Amino acid sequence: TENLIEVNDLKKYFPIKGGIFSRTVEQVKAVDGVSLSIKKGETLGLVGESGCGKTTVGRSILRLIEPDSGEIIFEDKDIMKYGRSELRHIRPNMQIVFQDPNSSLDPRMSVKDIIGEPMVVNKKNGADMEDKIGKLLKAVGLNPVDMYRYPHEFSGGQRQRICIARALALNPKFIVLDEPTSALDVSVQSQILNMLEDLQKEFGLTYLFISHNLIVVKYLSDRVAVMYLGKVVELAKTEALFDSPMHPYTQALLSAIAVPDPAVKRSQRIILEGDVPTPINPPKGCRFHTRCRYKMDICDKVEPEFKDIGGEHFVACHLMDKR
Ligand code: SF4
Repeated sequence: TENLIEVNDLKKYFPIKGGIFSRTVEQVKAVDGVSLSIKKGETLGLVGESGCGKTTVGRSILRLIEPDSGEIIFEDKDIMKYGRSELRHIRPNMQIVFQDPNSSLDPRMSVKDIIGEPMVVNKKNGADMEDKIGKLLKAVGLNPVDMYRYPHEFSGGQRQRICIARALALNPKFIVLDEPTSALDVSVQSQILNMLEDLQKEFGLTYLFISHNLIVVKYLSDRVAVMYLGKVVELAKTEALFDSPMHPYTQALLSAIAVPDPAVKRSQRIILEGDVPTPINPPKGCRFHTRCRYKMDICDKVEPEFKDIGGEHFVACHLMDKR
């Protein structure tokens, strides 16, 4: 198939204790039936407000978090069925870059040891290891001699470049980018995004790009999935999603992006009423109904199906039945 990854009905609930006098264990339904696919060589953007479950989806696909149920098909094999040793075998193919480069780099390790570590762990540390590390540093816009320095000698942007070089060390096919530029200065963000784009072409990478920042997602993604309270509510090609968003939640998210054009009136902004409900007891039916300005009778009773409305544009909303 053209898909590198297919996720079907992925679920992950985190148990939490109820009140101090309660023995019942409640569950945060962080990811509650997510299905999506990522094509070879593409970037799928995954957006949503904090707490919507997007990070849990990213980590679950890599099985850094153990999902409760669902399928994770990587190169036509369901890796949910994999045991530890099989997982170890395919792990080099799937990497992750985290938001904060500072907490993911050990300050006592030299850059050479940091980037070389995955090679050592996977016994890929041949005689040419230094040479490889030098090449990786070049690929991420650093100097090969930087390998003898330590993380504190670099700026935040440079440290993120080191993290990206480490993620590339084992020639992965797939990288989860979890808010990779959110901790960086705006001026540095675009440099890193450009670099990620170049690396994708150079190394034939497939990305899952997780971000709450729609502008950044638009820039990098071929297709975008929008999450709300543990579910994907809309998934479409980037252009279609930004030009004609169909789900009321996506419409509200997009309208909140600052529009530099003063001719666009303030009144065209859709203000989302209320807070995101808790994922412990998500609203029945459509989870967005408590904040949706189009809410109908059916919406708090029946959960809308996630349906293709044409052109691989998927939407979970009862309004689509009326079209
Ligand atoms: Fe709004 Fe109903 Fe659509 Fe949910 S299903 S987004 S409540 S119109």
